Amino acid sequence: MQAIARQPQRAPDGASVHYERHRPEQTTLYRLVQQHAASFIAHTEASTGAELPRFIKDEFDAFLECGILAHGFLRLRCGDCGHDKLVAFSCKRRGFCPSCGARRMSQTAAHLVDHVIPHVPVRQWVLSLPIALRLLLAAQPQDGVYRCGGDGVPSFVEVDAPTDDELHALLQTLITRLMKLLTRRGALVEDMGETYLAEPDADGDEARTLRPLQAAAVTYRIAFGPRARHEVLTLGDAMPRDAAPRQPLCADIDGFSLHAAVRCEAHDRKRLEQLCRYITRPALSDERVQCNAAGQVEFKLKTPWRDGTTHLVVPQGPAQPQEATEAATATECEAEHVQGRPHHISWARLLQRVFDIDMQHCAHCGGGELKIVAAILERPVIEKILKHLGPVSAPSRPRTGQ
Ligand SMILES: [Zn+2]
Ligand SMILES: [Zn+2]
Repeated sequence: MQAIARQPQRAPDGASVHYERHRPEQTTLYRLVQQHAASFIAHTEASTGAELPRFIKDEFDAFLECGILAHGFLRLRCGDCGHDKLVAFSCKRRGFCPSCGARRMSQTAAHLVDHVIPHVPVRQWVLSLPIALRLLLAAQPQDGVYRCGGDGVPSFVEVDAPTDDELHALLQTLITRLMKLLTRRGALVEDMGETYLAEPDADGDEARTLRPLQAAAVTYRIAFGPRARHEVLTLGDAMPRDAAPRQPLCADIDGFSLHAAVRCEAHDRKRLEQLCRYITRPALSDERVQCNAAGQVEFKLKTPWRDGTTHLVVPQGPAQPQEATEAATATECEAEHVQGRPHHISWARLLQRVFDIDMQHCAHCGGGELKIVAAILERPVIEKILKHLGPVSAPSRPRTGQ
């Protein structure tokens, strides 16, 4: 999470205003997308001869506007002291935007803990698949399982942790059934005792452009450009984790693995919420994408791989940032928190729950309740207000689509 600093200012009508400076446009990830999204799309389309699906371009465009005051904002006013605060709109996308992904993660985890998962002990089972099957599932994602009693009422029966032998046998059963299922669906082909990935049916445009990107992603290779198909560099600790003693409750067979060592006690709702946040975490996080001194882009892995790898490195970094833009900035707060939709915890309440930051009450007088007084969407009005707040400007960028 970005540090948030407060800037008391004056709005055109003389009311005192402050806005939270989160500066999404100054993250490495933002600059990379801003500088390279258009050429990424052009290269991919040129090399596959087909158009990338619209949703990919939309994700980039929405990410580049997310949390930027220059693209519109809400004006909130404290009921007690009349102090104003500006809150930029967020994109609320599911795919790419790390700040919206982080909000959704917090929201989902809190919802699961408050409304879905009963007060029983919970064990996390993690099944990892070999790379070829990861590609298959990236292209055809479907999954799910739950069990109910004969009377229709689900009842909880606690079981002991599996033994290593049981875990091994379970993984073997999972592999056998998964391979049978994939063969039955035509995704795998058995021939002379060997199993192969089936040739995909005549690919549509979408599959033709997405498949090379998915393949590059699951094999950690560079997707296009002068180093296409090369593996990304990895940086690691001196000591591979494989050298460490074998982990308990973890089985490995032929590139599949099953891990069941993480368990939360029935009363430990805090740990359960952390676990739910972990399993719903977004694909990318701003803080883990950085440029090193050599100008290379480094992606820090959340958990080191078993071979000790801690970072993935893309050889060329983005060009140096233009002069520091005192750009219009934003917070991760948004309209949602005032509308109070049922079963939707507001971002403001989530911030309070997770980071102990209060976004619902006035920071100026220390307690007044904030209410929306206007949604500012028109360019001239946006510019007028931001101009009075200081040297702010919209980050300039080419849009990736029309
Ligand atoms: Zn967003
Ligand atoms: Zn106040």
